[in-house]
Amino acid sequence: MPPNSPRKKNAHATAWHIDGESDVRSLMSVEPNAQWFGTAHHELGHIYYYLSYAIPEVPYLLRAGANRAFHEAVGELARLASQQPAYLRKLGLVRAGQEPDAPSALLQSALESIVFLPFAAGTMTHFERDLYEHDLPVAEWQDRWWQYAATYQGVQPPGKRAPDLCDACTKTHINDDPAQYYDYAMATLIKFQLHDHICRKIVKQEPRVCDYSGSEEAGRFLRDILKLGATRDWRKVMREATGEDIGPRAMLDFYQPLLADLAKRNQGLDCSR
Ligand SMILES: [Zn+2]
Repeated sequence: MPPNSPRKKNAHATAWHIDGESDVRSLMSVEPNAQWFGTAHHELGHIYYYLSYAIPEVPYLLRAGANRAFHEAVGELARLASQQPAYLRKLGLVRAGQEPDAPSALLQSALESIVFLPFAAGTMTHFERDLYEHDLPVAEWQDRWWQYAATYQGVQPPGKRAPDLCDACTKTHINDDPAQYYDYAMATLIKFQLHDHICRKIVKQEPRVCDYSGSEEAGRFLRDILKLGATRDWRKVMREATGEDIGPRAMLDFYQPLLADLAKRNQGLDCSR
């Protein structure tokens, strides 16, 4: 594209199932760093989901995730698996003894996933409901969004916000591809449940230090879920695959040591805001 072209490209990483069969593509402006390493795995999670249900047993119109959050969960599962120290050592990306220490890695992971939940399931979801279901007038967009940010995230704007602008509209799924943040919130729960099941029940490792890359059994477990596409009720898919309903149990287990550590560090402090 020539410089100064009025056309803008959307560089948000995406994965596409072009023909519902084997033509799969991904768009990314990759840079060689940890963030893009994780994103590349996330997009490949979508791609392998597409390929798994592109089979004669799945009617064309049901070639989709068990629900939209499941699709994101599979992408996020691939990202989580790609961050395991043993996997990084195997690829030669981290040398033995140079891994980040476990408490900092867990805190970093929580800052990326837990902190995201009140934003995704609280602020953004309520704002989008007002926007689409209640036709929120444009003049109220800015104030309403910051009200929700204060309520659900305890976040105040860094300074006075111009009331005729829309800070929420800078977020990619507000200006493009609506109602995705709720998917991401649900996907976080699903991701930890699938990860927990694979680690504990299939490869018999601790979920916080678990490498299932190359495991045929883990691959079979995932393929059995993915190849269903949208032919089954997503609640049943999860229950039958893992033996439990969708919920936060696995996620809370994963962060248990951090929870205990933060409770100790924050003893006597008012952390309600
Ligand atoms: Zn995705």
